[in-house]
Amino acid sequence: MEAITSFMKVSSLDLKRQYESIREEINKAVLEVVASQSFVLGPFVESFEDSIAQFCCIRHAVGVSSGTDAILLALMACGVKNGDEVITTPFTFFATAGSIARLGAVPVFVDIDPATYNIDGSKISTAINKKTKAILPVHLYGQCANMDVILEIARANGLMVIEDAAQAIGAVYKGRNAGSLGHVGCFSFYPTKNLGGYGDGGLVATNDDKLAEFIKILRVHGSKPKYYHSYIGINGRLDAIQAAVLSVKLKYLNSWSEKRRLIAAYYHERLKGLPIRLPKIESHNVHIFHQYVIATPKRDALMKYLERQGIETAIYYPVPLHLQKCFEYLGYKCGDLPESERASLETLALPIFPEITQKEQDYVISHIKKFISGQ
Ligand SMILES: *Cc1c(COP(=O)(O)O)cnc(C)c1O
Repeated sequence: MEAITSFMKVSSLDLKRQYESIREEINKAVLEVVASQSFVLGPFVESFEDSIAQFCCIRHAVGVSSGTDAILLALMACGVKNGDEVITTPFTFFATAGSIARLGAVPVFVDIDPATYNIDGSKISTAINKKTKAILPVHLYGQCANMDVILEIARANGLMVIEDAAQAIGAVYKGRNAGSLGHVGCFSFYPTKNLGGYGDGGLVATNDDKLAEFIKILRVHGSKPKYYHSYIGINGRLDAIQAAVLSVKLKYLNSWSEKRRLIAAYYHERLKGLPIRLPKIESHNVHIFHQYVIATPKRDALMKYLERQGIETAIYYPVPLHLQKCFEYLGYKCGDLPESERASLETLALPIFPEITQKEQDYVISHIKKFISGQ
């Protein structure tokens, strides 16, 4: 047992450190927008969209107001409407299924693969029927879902594939970028995401010219030209200050992702062999470790113990979506999707961000070991 340094606080994410490292550039970029007095869409947003399209190797990138609206707009553009069914995972952030339900469509939940926490491709086919319109996989924690299987099932059944890549910008699946694999990809720039703005923001990506054009119309209330509405859209625009901040940060994203991978590897080396489950990276995936998530049946006790040591951890997600109160009307019950339910009881996200220090990581690791040896 290695010695544990005296008490320290380790937060699960410290955005101030990142800001300190790029303060001058960010301040300059924000002030340029203020000087331009052009705040919604406009040249800063267009230039950011071009950079993201290049970064993700995708034809069109459409900046929108949030990751949630990105999913909503993608579903709308794919023609998902009242009564349609959309297959997705219950082990994700609420927005994934919330956006489906907001359109009057029905989220159909398929259980996850316990090794990766992503939707289990082998279970999708049995969920398809005449009402099924789309599959909405989530690349959870920064690792792509099993897209070959999903795309093949979609092709065979004439379904659209919308990727929720909110946690996966820069992740790669068999040489291709997250968000560019299906018909439409959705990103979030919520401040805590790997590429986070200074407020809400999101983006829809697609290689399809028609879908891109439709999404651009839908994000401005379905109007083209202005004040002439062929469709009922939403106010889903990205603002220029976010685009300016994100343009600065995008230049650093690859190096930040690389740091996250090193931090994950450091955890892995020192935690392997312990009676806890560690993240599994599939060999064809480049993981960006939005989260580093371990699992143990003693999760709640471990979390409380770490909290007393000053270590902040988090649970993503404590209630799988099929058991959320608002989805009672869908008729799921406990036991229906056992892997998702078990994950919600056993998973714990450890502190991970590019600026975390080795000393902080050592402190987390030694306290996990101490907790386990005391069991
Ligand atoms: C963050 C997130 C969203 C929603 O993004 P917002 O920008 O917060 O609206 C959707 N899906 C997943 C998986 C997310 O992590």
